[in-house]
Amino acid sequence: MTTTTMANLNGGQTTVAIAELETFAHQLRGSLIRPEDASYDEARRLWNGMFDKRPAVIVQCVRVADVIDAVRFARDRNLLIAIRGGAHNVAGLASYDGGFVIDLSQMRAVHVDPKAKTVRVEAGAQLGDIDRETQKYGLVVPTGVVSETGIAGLTLNGGVGWLRRKWGMTCDNLVSVELVTANGQWLRASQTENPDLFWALQGGGGNFGVVTAFEFELHPLGPEVMFCFVMYPDSREILQRFSKFSQSEPEEVGMLSFTGTVPADDNFPKGWWHHPFFAIAACYAGSADDGEIMLQPLRELGTPIVDFSDRMLYTETQQFLDDDYPKGRNYYWKSVYLKELTDDTIDTLLALNRQAPSHHSTIDIWTMGGAMSRVTSAESPLTPREAPFMIGIEANWDDPQDSDLNIAWVRDCVDGLAPFAAPGIYLNFPGFMEDADQMVRTAYGQNFQRLVKVKRQYDPDNFFRLNQNINPQA
Ligand SMILES: Cc1cc2nc3c(=O)[nH]c(=O)nc-3n(C[C@H](O)[C@H](O)[C@H](O)COP(=O)(O)OP(=O)(O)OC[C@H]3O[C@@H](n4cnc5c(N)ncnc54)[C@H](O)[C@@H]3O)c2cc1C
Repeated sequence: MTTTTMANLNGGQTTVAIAELETFAHQLRGSLIRPEDASYDEARRLWNGMFDKRPAVIVQCVRVADVIDAVRFARDRNLLIAIRGGAHNVAGLASYDGGFVIDLSQMRAVHVDPKAKTVRVEAGAQLGDIDRETQKYGLVVPTGVVSETGIAGLTLNGGVGWLRRKWGMTCDNLVSVELVTANGQWLRASQTENPDLFWALQGGGGNFGVVTAFEFELHPLGPEVMFCFVMYPDSREILQRFSKFSQSEPEEVGMLSFTGTVPADDNFPKGWWHHPFFAIAACYAGSADDGEIMLQPLRELGTPIVDFSDRMLYTETQQFLDDDYPKGRNYYWKSVYLKELTDDTIDTLLALNRQAPSHHSTIDIWTMGGAMSRVTSAESPLTPREAPFMIGIEANWDDPQDSDLNIAWVRDCVDGLAPFAAPGIYLNFPGFMEDADQMVRTAYGQNFQRLVKVKRQYDPDNFFRLNQNINPQA
């Protein structure tokens, strides 16, 4: 075989000579992986088992020069590219059948500057890589709640985790971003360098270039923190008490509560197996002593099924939920913002939970507010952030034959919650990006046109389009 075909930007195929690919591969410090290579199957695998994509080429970059060369190679041939960080995107956007994947998963270096209280993170890092380094200095970046998630996709579309109410979303903590733009140029964006681009990168997605590194502000926390994990029966009264607590909770309290089904697992009392539950997980972003006091009321909302709350290392809190999200399970997640948690909303949430076809599925309640809600539209396109709650509806299931049922359940939940919804949508929980144009407009609201302007300046041909896409022609 002397040629191969790859998907191009016009929706067709481009023929590329193998000799050209070999010359390109020769310059790389990383590797070029093709379907005949032994590492192909592992390299193409996405976290969401719903996707089994077979790209034509995976360029595993290890240096910025590799990224620049990859962008130029694809650009010169009009190839459709996908960008891969942690491969956790629920819609499977990190790959494409017959496509050209620019894979940053080998670029995971993390350098802490304890004096400046900043950290520089290569764009293929996972959240756990950052926590491991920053916690050596008793410092943190607010990120997400599962340690194997990629920092790149998470940050570019926001990033909510235990510390969001104290220090904002992940994107709010950016100091600078280094990226390779559509014309193959490397540049830095910050408040003083390319400030419009920097604004767009604080929540505007992977639309503007291949990010090679992020610089974040750090905050003091840990190594020990207080973590609450308490599971109750799915009672309306307990949710009412939880709702009341959430109205006066201090900003240090970062809660992620969820409904689900008690697993048939020896960690839980046998009499409760398969029963619906309401669990509260929370991390206190302050001293463990204060946290013990401040989180105690959450442990006394009723009689718990189990209470695993304890002081633990911050790095442990960041891994607490990891086992619930194995690679290769099937996932379909969507989000709805809520105006308030009324009795009607609570009843609806509990009823929808009981209809979940899979016992791995949950309906998550993220309490918002605090520092993240004070960010203005001058600072981030992901604004205003007025809604006090975000609901994440997570269908998680094992048998591919159950896919239709589980996807339908998530859509039913979105419809069921519609009467209580506040404007907006969170693009890190995007379903499969059905109705993508409308979703993106809904997510950015009044900031959408400014994002289009920045997109036109940095990527007028929409070279970066396999993402939560802002169409430059919009
Ligand atoms: C188990 C799990 C837990 C999660 N928990 C949270 C959570 O607590 N909080 C939260 O906010 N979200 C959470 N998410 C959602 C998560 O933020 C998104 O799935 C995000 O896309 C993951 O980023 P990634 O780098 O792994 O994505 P990938 O799948 O690697 O990439 C997805 C997209 O991100 C963009 N992208 C990636 N790398 C780059 C780059 N270097 N330059 C430019 N664009 C790039 C591209 O558009 C790409 O298509 C979770 C997801 C999973 C699967």
